[in-house]
Amino acid sequence: MGGALLAVDAVAGHEGETAFALLRPPGHHAGAAAGRGFCVFNNAAFAARRALDAHGARRVFILDWDVHHGNGTQEIFYPEPAVVFCSLHQEAWYPGTGALEDTGEGPGEGTTINIPLPAGIGDGGYRYLFEEVVLPLLRVVAPGLIVISAGFDAHHADPLGGMVMTAPGFGRLARLTREAAGSTPVVALLEGGYDLRALAASVAATLEGLTGIEAGFSLPEEAVGEAPFAVARTRARDVRRIVGQHWAL
Ligand SMILES: [Zn+2]
Repeated sequence: MGGALLAVDAVAGHEGETAFALLRPPGHHAGAAAGRGFCVFNNAAFAARRALDAHGARRVFILDWDVHHGNGTQEIFYPEPAVVFCSLHQEAWYPGTGALEDTGEGPGEGTTINIPLPAGIGDGGYRYLFEEVVLPLLRVVAPGLIVISAGFDAHHADPLGGMVMTAPGFGRLARLTREAAGSTPVVALLEGGYDLRALAASVAATLEGLTGIEAGFSLPEEAVGEAPFAVARTRARDVRRIVGQHWAL
């Protein structure tokens, strides 16, 4: 958790700066009062609070691409208008939360954006959802800090997820996010990832994507069976309909 705070302090006020905190345990299932699901302290929540309270950020955008829904983060910020929480996750999977219709409450209405996805979504599907939903939302929210809950258990080799992402696919999501962020600082925090080889390759690819430095860490991977593209297209349309009630995408 201290690493998340240090990462925010390191980038706050520095245009276009990026940090990646390699933390264990992960944090996004932890609530305000108790740990859950391998998580003890909600690192992303602490990072967001730090940016708001200590660095004067008016809004923070938390992008959670771990294969599991970040229920702790959602719970902590559900009524909070200054934190936009956007999660892509496998539907009907641990912890069972993260429905499309859950969009926040009270002054936080519209600041929770859930994108539940059927198993089998891979690089192409995630990229499409980023281009159709996540990146336009990021631009319209115009946060003072972007926190990525960077889990890599959507990788095809991961034993705890049913998605078919590859390491270079994560690298592309990171690059798209960094480009859309413009001058906004980005802090990535390690969440899940339970196949160590896939985790290492995915973190390396993400570092390349966030920094724009091609270090040669990211090796090509065999394409694996991906759900039909129409699935991602339909889901993007559903999410845009709901998000469009609150944000002009
Ligand atoms: Zn996870």
